[in-house]
Amino acid sequence: MGLLSVGTPLEWKDTRNYAEHVRDNGTIQLINCFKAAINRNNDKFLWGDEVEYMLVKIDDDSKTAKLAIDKDYILTSLNEDGEHYQKALDSNVIFHPEYGRFMIEATPLKPYDGENLDDYLYVEKNMQLRRAISNNELDDSTIKPLTLTSFPRMGVEDFTFPKAEPNGNASKSLFLPDEIINRHVRFPTLTANIRRRRDQKVAINIPIYKDKFTKSIDPMIPKNRNLFPFSDNESTLGAAKPGHIYMDSMGFGMGSSCLQVTMQASNINEARYIYDSLVNIAPLMLSLTSAAPIFRGLLADQDVRWNVIAGAVDDRTPYERSEKPLQGHSEIGNTLSVESLQRIPKSRYDSVDQYLGDINNGEFNYFKSEYNDLNSPINEKVLKTLINNGFDQTLANHFAHLFIRDPIVIFNERLNQDNETETDHFENIQSTNWQTLRFKPPNQSAIPTNNKTPGWRVELRPMEISITDFENAAFADFSILLSRAILKYKPNFYLPISKVEENMKTAHVRDSTINCKFNFRVNVWNNSDSPIIRKLTLNEIFNGCDEFEGLISIVEKYINETFKDEKDKVNGKLSMYLKLVSYRSSGKIKTTAKFIRDFVINHKSYEHDSVVNDSINYDLIKILSDLSNYDHDIIKEFFGDEISKWMISNGY
Ligand code: ADP
Ligand code: MG
Ligand code: MG
Ligand code: MG
Repeated sequence: MGLLSVGTPLEWKDTRNYAEHVRDNGTIQLINCFKAAINRNNDKFLWGDEVEYMLVKIDDDSKTAKLAIDKDYILTSLNEDGEHYQKALDSNVIFHPEYGRFMIEATPLKPYDGENLDDYLYVEKNMQLRRAISNNELDDSTIKPLTLTSFPRMGVEDFTFPKAEPNGNASKSLFLPDEIINRHVRFPTLTANIRRRRDQKVAINIPIYKDKFTKSIDPMIPKNRNLFPFSDNESTLGAAKPGHIYMDSMGFGMGSSCLQVTMQASNINEARYIYDSLVNIAPLMLSLTSAAPIFRGLLADQDVRWNVIAGAVDDRTPYERSEKPLQGHSEIGNTLSVESLQRIPKSRYDSVDQYLGDINNGEFNYFKSEYNDLNSPINEKVLKTLINNGFDQTLANHFAHLFIRDPIVIFNERLNQDNETETDHFENIQSTNWQTLRFKPPNQSAIPTNNKTPGWRVELRPMEISITDFENAAFADFSILLSRAILKYKPNFYLPISKVEENMKTAHVRDSTINCKFNFRVNVWNNSDSPIIRKLTLNEIFNGCDEFEGLISIVEKYINETFKDEKDKVNGKLSMYLKLVSYRSSGKIKTTAKFIRDFVINHKSYEHDSVVNDSINYDLIKILSDLSNYDHDIIKEFFGDEISKWMISNGY
């Protein structure tokens, strides 16, 4: 999660005035990074995952489950200068702050080695340690760090412990108290400045799951609050759509959890190729890991978090979104002038808009410029500067697209930087462009001969977080092994990127994992031909079909060839990970989202009105918490016979 500078954030008006300063210097910093690292080569394939947790208080007396918002001290204790920092270091883990005060993020301290089989088998152990260490820090044994993608009752009545009221000035939300936001000033400022730029609260509308008694007008939206007069009536002016779950605050999105993996490529060309390949895989991984069927206490008619976060940080003005402003609100929000704006079809949190273009060390080149067919807006000035400094057109376009955004938070103390050694201005723009993939260049100290600093990295970001470490390790390993296989066998996954965009929408559909078809290029080995695109189910894409051998078989081939002398190790855990991917994509076992939805619908107190009441919420969280501890009865249902039998006989 970006930069946590110590200091004073500028007021929105000043942030606005310094936006160009940040972009200008950020561009120079980017150019300097490229100059330093462009020839860097032969970096090891290192990688790491990021897991996000919610601290949930499960109270068996009152039979409630709530987000614990006063336990963020554990981050202090487990970080540098903290009392228990050494514990984290000794276990090779590190904890990071996240948007929510009820959230923590944890990663391995040292990245894993992608060429070492033992490291793939160690990932889960490292994840277990993170859970155990954070759990041990808590002074209340009823609170657990759980890996939930969305907290079912976030934003309904008193969903926090301790209780807090939704009356905060940062978000002005009807539903979320500011006390759920991380205490670091960056986070409330982000929240407030997104609202200020739009001159309206964010407005997220997710289709509601229509059951027999579902109301099309949501009675839980307060209609007559008069605490923030300019904001409180937005829902009645059209911000809340009938038949939808309306959410009005950044926390609904940034307060959800996900699984990310970052990998280091050997050089920039390899990074560009792996990035572009994974752009096509990203929507598939989103669907496969579906885990978020409930928002604000209501069953949604979708299974994933993605568009909730996209809406939650959407700082575009009505003009930029090509929409009419709400009555009494401005078309250009709180920006300088309409001349300074362009139409922007997507939020700054969304799927990748442009391929980077592959140049595979001069050996081959699959990318065709017509694949970048979204016409996504760019910052012309940045484009020119980058081209003048030796960036090729496609790469320059990528960054020029990121630079259409304004910085949302600027720290007064960080206004003036040494562009030869610092990268905060570049990172300010880069780290608030939240796409399905992130291309992470090395910084200026990454001279070609110094492979100790991080090199060219690619981050895969679409996956939802799963309930167990077993699943999260499986999806992390699978993504990385697939990336390794891509680098080895060099398939061509390019689709026109508008087709990837369609897939991203499809991934939101309820039960898309088993019911929907995704655009997929089937002539992956006929490398420079035009794409032959078929609509395939995830089962066909992962497990194979007549036209395509299946992603899993490509991964298996890589494993069998690379680790041929370590068959015993491959046959245990790793093969179970592949089975999980296989069975989820075929529908043999349910997705997490389906498991949760079915649990709600079959609950004795569910009234077929889409409402997930306190008692359902409590029972659900209990089950998921027990599942995260591999309760044997629950894993049988959740993972099916084969995987659960293996788990039980292997000490889970
Ligand atoms: P961010 O939140 O910006 O994505 P984090 O520090 O939270 O960054 O996560 C970065 C991930 O990258 C971690 O899993 C870490 O282990 C991994 N990582 C660190 N250094 C390297 C490297 N040189 N190559 C690949 N991965 C790395
Ligand atoms: Mg994070
Ligand atoms: Mg992180
Ligand atoms: Mg990350």
